[in-house]
Amino acid sequence: MVNTKDRIGKKMLDAIKELGDYVKKRERLGDIETFVDKAKLDKNTKQVLCIVFQHTERGFSYKSIIQEEYDPRKASLYLYRGGSSRGIDTLPSALITDKVEKTFRNKIARWFKDKDEALFRMIAEELEKNRDKIERKLIERYKGIPKEERRNVLITLKLEENGNEKYIGEIYVFKNVLVQDTVRSYYFLDSIGESRGEGICYLCGNSGEIYGFVLPSLRSSGFGLSFSTADKRGFSPNFIQENHWKEIPICEYCARTLETGKRFLDDNLSFPKKRFNFFGCEYYVIPKIIFGELFDEFYDIVTYYKDKEYVDGLLSEEDYLEEIVKDKEDVVRLIFLFYTQKGGGKYIDIVRCVEDVLPSWIKEMYDCQDSVKKMDIFREDNMQKMINKGWVGNFVDGLRLIGKNEDRKGLSKNNWFVKFTRDFFPSSKTEGTHDKYFMDVVSSILSRKPIDKDFMISAFVDRIRSAYKERDGYRLKLLCLKALMLYLFVVKMNLLRGEKMGEEKTVEETEGEDLESKVKQFFEEYGFHNPAKRAAFSVGMLVDYLLWVQRSERGSGYGEEPFWSNLYGLILDEKKIKGLFPKALSKLRQYRKGYSALETVVSKYLAEAEQDWNISNDETSYYFALGMTLRRLFSKNKEEKKEEE
Ligand SMILES: [Zn+2]
Repeated sequence: MVNTKDRIGKKMLDAIKELGDYVKKRERLGDIETFVDKAKLDKNTKQVLCIVFQHTERGFSYKSIIQEEYDPRKASLYLYRGGSSRGIDTLPSALITDKVEKTFRNKIARWFKDKDEALFRMIAEELEKNRDKIERKLIERYKGIPKEERRNVLITLKLEENGNEKYIGEIYVFKNVLVQDTVRSYYFLDSIGESRGEGICYLCGNSGEIYGFVLPSLRSSGFGLSFSTADKRGFSPNFIQENHWKEIPICEYCARTLETGKRFLDDNLSFPKKRFNFFGCEYYVIPKIIFGELFDEFYDIVTYYKDKEYVDGLLSEEDYLEEIVKDKEDVVRLIFLFYTQKGGGKYIDIVRCVEDVLPSWIKEMYDCQDSVKKMDIFREDNMQKMINKGWVGNFVDGLRLIGKNEDRKGLSKNNWFVKFTRDFFPSSKTEGTHDKYFMDVVSSILSRKPIDKDFMISAFVDRIRSAYKERDGYRLKLLCLKALMLYLFVVKMNLLRGEKMGEEKTVEETEGEDLESKVKQFFEEYGFHNPAKRAAFSVGMLVDYLLWVQRSERGSGYGEEPFWSNLYGLILDEKKIKGLFPKALSKLRQYRKGYSALETVVSKYLAEAEQDWNISNDETSYYFALGMTLRRLFSKNKEEKKEEE
């Protein structure tokens, strides 16, 4: 299921590079525009403080501090490019994130230290000479900015000559620093040294000068396609295992293009967009566009939706990808790159890379989730019967509206399958860490690969048993319903190895409203064709009835009924199921109770399964628990009352 071969990484890098190529042309990006962090400024910066130097006979001297409104069209003039962890940005343009004077000292004045260039030396001297004055003035100006605009104020420099003010982005020596420094970061890491030479570029195949640290260097735009172990040579074992990946040789052209592509991803295709967290990780959706002309459309739509909040789907609230692929089936593939941030966002660890996802498949996932969600058994009235009278909406909507925090968190209408999967493969102190399996299931579904039935069922019963053990009836019911929904979803998507839904036939509403025909109809409709499943399910129903009797007779709470502890911890098999039937019956008789219709159903299905019990013990336990949860689906309270009399 997990492919860590180098081929994977190559495909992903190729896709990012193609994207970068397109964006570069589309936005007419030169070197400078490619290298500055425009998006970061656009996002939060409203005001700019400029330290102005005036040209004099002797050189440049400090003149004043002026304040300007940030203008996105001037982004490449400020030459802002976030620096390494140690704090100095690539150029003397820095965001105030701490005290004003600290930013000035550490990011502006310090930048000019030990520089050879004559202009830089001159400015360094001026800064030193006028330090107190500049700091005082900066603070004063900063305080004059309205509070709501004080976030990420940019400090930069301007040089005035013959009455004309120039930004550093208009001065060759500064621009040159940006280009040189960026290129240097492609082959130089403080902790390792240099990695460059003559060779063949891994991406374009051309020979020439190649650089080894291009991938880790891409962290400049917020965080990069670097890996937690990058500074120690070699990359995360989850991603790349081949030795030659340790320092992937990439030429300067490809490196720059990758950088553009990576920036575009950060700005537009990084999910979840804001305050959400995707069950412990984040992800990029990287388009692999097969026909070039589609880029235009893709670009327009993606940038249009860039600030849309992630709410309902794996991709976005609006299924904009659907728009793109309409009538153009199979021309776009998506690569889902799941990762976690490390080192406070400095590095990323790639958790999983899922390639070749068809947008139409995403659409199918949405549609299928929708249809399962709307199935009869999950309707509001049925939830009220099975869970509680106060339930609102269908199962999923109810969880979102009135569910406990743990059930609501991360649940949305187009990704309930992800949330439910997480519920069965959690990461917690009590339930253990199942991150890998969670990712396995999600990526299998995304990439349309089958999931093993036994694997799923065993995860279901693990959690269900733990709820049983804790005598948490409410959770047990929710887990059973979640399991059933997830199961139906995977079967409907045709992804369950070892199980076929069979032809979907509309089951006619049977005439009889009696229990037996209702149960039979349910089995037909939801694909419970196997006699053993039906038998286990039926015994589960009967036991649930007994538990109900014990609750009402003895006033026990849910999970505290005496018979609760006779269920072998829900570790059941054929023999135990068959044995539970007479046990439950005799208990019922002790209470002088009976439910003849249900008893008939149970005998019938037990008899049918007599010769051929061909399901695993986990399955047996799972269907039994389902029967316990779903019994009320078939009962009219009136009928039940009649049986009790
Ligand atoms: Zn190349």
